[in-house]
Amino acid sequence: TPAATKPQLRVVIAAPRGFCAGVDRAIRIVELAIERYGAPVYVRHEIVHNKFVVDSLRAKGAVFVEELHEVPDGVPVIFSAHGVPKVVPAKAEARGLDYIDATCPLVSKVHRQAERFVDQGRHILFIGHARHPEVIGTFGQVDDGAMTLVETVEEAQTVQPPEGPLGLLTQTTLSVDDTRDILTTLQSRFPDLVGPKGEDICYATSNRQEAVKELAAKTQVVLVLGSPKSSNSLRLVEVAERGGSHGQLIQRAADVDWRWLRGVTSLGITAGASAPETLVQELIDALHERFELTIEEVRTASEDIVFKLPRALA
Ligand code: SF4
Repeated sequence: TPAATKPQLRVVIAAPRGFCAGVDRAIRIVELAIERYGAPVYVRHEIVHNKFVVDSLRAKGAVFVEELHEVPDGVPVIFSAHGVPKVVPAKAEARGLDYIDATCPLVSKVHRQAERFVDQGRHILFIGHARHPEVIGTFGQVDDGAMTLVETVEEAQTVQPPEGPLGLLTQTTLSVDDTRDILTTLQSRFPDLVGPKGEDICYATSNRQEAVKELAAKTQVVLVLGSPKSSNSLRLVEVAERGGSHGQLIQRAADVDWRWLRGVTSLGITAGASAPETLVQELIDALHERFELTIEEVRTASEDIVFKLPRALA
């Protein structure tokens, strides 16, 4: 029978993986807004960085734009989970637009801390990746020049913030290990640096990285479901690589180059915080067609966090 000729493959699936509470909430917000206001509902920027999610919301009546001026008068607009600079809600208000903010509460927390630091007269060092929308949003909470971006250990060694007290903040979706190195460097140069306990990396990011470390130790290849724009998904690929496995980012099963799995007997699977579980199942189905699978799950943490919806939709 053809089944007998299929090669064996041991699949190890990471847990936790996929949707975090912030992504779940942001998608719910778009769905509820469409129910409440009727289509179209505009969304500024991809609500979360996942094409599959964006396409399915578009099919329900969401219209995705990059900037507010693309939103016509009189229709509601939602801000993405990554957060927005303060000028964006201000402009929406000035135009009389109904807006709903789907910024993840863990990103909003960083925004408020940025304001507090400024009130305390602190200059802020911010560890993050230039041009990511979350970073643009957080920088947009304070005046120009109030915050300095630090992307690497090298930059941490050379950054020259203004004289005076300093505060530290980070992007929520960074590599836990890289951030620790950058933070240690900054703390040795600026011993009075005031910051969050470790950093602002969120529970979902650190849990997914911890799980993928386990996967990397057990498997030859790790497939990460996620978008190339998704910071936390890109970090999962890096963690898999550093753990000695071979990491590959794919948006969905159709992206798998089957040559990657030639001669491979153990495969890890995980998904970034914005990748829906259906894509994991789709990948497993595709693997089933080509391999004789044994499937196990490696769980390194349990998550039961749920964020409240904005009052306008609750
Ligand atoms: Fe919020 Fe973290 Fe999810 Fe980003 S990855 S939406 S910060 S919970």
